Amino acid sequence: MANAIIAMGGNVGDVRATFGAAISDICTLEQARLLARSSDYLTPPWGDEQQPRFINACIEIETGLDPHALLAVLQTVERKFGRDRAHERRWGPRTLDLDLIAYDDVSLQTAELTLPHPRLFERAFVLVPLAEIAPDRQIGGRTVKTALAELSREGIERLPAAD
Ligand code: ADP
Ligand code: MG
Repeated sequence: MANAIIAMGGNVGDVRATFGAAISDICTLEQARLLARSSDYLTPPWGDEQQPRFINACIEIETGLDPHALLAVLQTVERKFGRDRAHERRWGPRTLDLDLIAYDDVSLQTAELTLPHPRLFERAFVLVPLAEIAPDRQIGGRTVKTALAELSREGIERLPAAD
């Protein structure tokens, strides 16, 4: 079994409900076990600022799938929750974005998949939730909390539990 970190984001629809349903689907489809789930965070839009704020969270799972198979499952779940890559702009509004942040200590670069995730260290909206569940994890030679210390957390708000 491998240990994988997945970042979740969205700013269209009832994103927190989508996260809950998506986590349950990920665990079923991947035969994965959920090890940890961060709080949800309200975050400023990134890349394209002319859109509503996002909600972001991170999960840690144990999975028997290899990285490419895991990415394929994540893309299936994105589609199920209404994501339509053909009609969206880069970094624009979306119902659900699922990024594979890290998979054990694997480093790889193919056309479809780069590990660790190439934009991880620029994104406080990934590192803030990740630091809640795995502050000491080493990714790409740095710990999550050290990487986060270099970024601004401005505008990021932790949301109280949804239930
Ligand atoms: P972003 O995640 O940067 O907001 P997208 O979700 O639109 O952008 O993803 C664009 C492409 O990134 C996908 O088609 C996917 O094949 C590729 N990709 C490369 N590495 C990863 C990764 N580690 N996790 C998720 N997608 C990845
Ligand atoms: Mg993505």
